[in-house]
Amino acid sequence: MIVTVRRGADPDTVQKSLLERGLWVCRHDDPLGRVQFVSQPWSGHVDAEAIRALDGVEAVAEPPSPHPLVDALGPRAVVAGVPFGAGAEPVLVAGPCSVESPAQIEALAARLAPLGVRFLRGGAFKPRTSPYSFQGHGEAALDWLRRAATAHGLGVVTEATSEAAVPAVAERADIVQVGSRNMHTAPLLQAVGRAGKPVLLKRGMAATVEEWLLAAEYLLVAGAPAVIFCERGVRGFDASTRNLLDLGAVALLAHVHRVPVLVDPSHAVGRRDLVIPLSLAAVAAGAAGVVVETHDDPGAALSDGPQALTAAQLADLALGLARGTRAGDPRR
Ligand code: PEP
Ligand code: MN
Repeated sequence: MIVTVRRGADPDTVQKSLLERGLWVCRHDDPLGRVQFVSQPWSGHVDAEAIRALDGVEAVAEPPSPHPLVDALGPRAVVAGVPFGAGAEPVLVAGPCSVESPAQIEALAARLAPLGVRFLRGGAFKPRTSPYSFQGHGEAALDWLRRAATAHGLGVVTEATSEAAVPAVAERADIVQVGSRNMHTAPLLQAVGRAGKPVLLKRGMAATVEEWLLAAEYLLVAGAPAVIFCERGVRGFDASTRNLLDLGAVALLAHVHRVPVLVDPSHAVGRRDLVIPLSLAAVAAGAAGVVVETHDDPGAALSDGPQALTAAQLADLALGLARGTRAGDPRR
């Protein structure tokens, strides 16, 4: 943003007003004696109209954004009747890494629904790093997931790992997930966008925030009615945790880009004992909710057992989130 000071106005006073509104600026004096302030990237979110209305401001120019549709999203989304983001209760998305059987997913849905979980997650098509790992039960698992969710009043979040899988996933899901390994796959993003369903866009494990926003722009250009971001940890230098949970990026998306963002602490740390504290930290940082892997018997899970909470632990998490929200959510 470039703010031009009206001739005769005091630039120092204008600069002070800009700073008070969260705009960090560099002063530029042009050869004609005009003073301009150029905003710096660490500025907070500001409304150009409010800046234009300031005393002493002649004009405000905004360079075109590379992701105008993302910028227009706003901090709140309502998906399948559930509000996400500013002012809303933290949304709980929970379920197993993989949908393993009709009985498993039905039993879990029955346990999770009374705890305040709004969406049942579970992979039917699994994007596994190794071709020898369990790849998911495919289309059949989509039906098991949908049936269990509907029976207990839950929405469905599940991943489309390929363009070929998009129609089947979009038919059964309330929110189509694009996984970390596919965040950069433009043809998949376009196919998911064309399906016309809200999307949960996980951050690529080595993606910059700007690349993540541009992936969302792909979805929106193609026709996605809503995008909810999901931070799931990025590659770090330290193997102590599975990934490095980037809560700075969560705060940036929530408070500066002002878009709804969830956090998946399960894939971020890879161990169940840290999932609850990180979920609370995520919501404190501005997350609209959490996506948490949950299993009826984590020791027997076909994938990602060590990071799965039991339903009893999920109940503790739900309680912790409710307390935290009442105690001091700055968005209220
Ligand atoms: C998942 O949520 O099932 C998953 C595979 O996560 P990610 O894409 O973040 O690795
Ligand atoms: Mn998993």
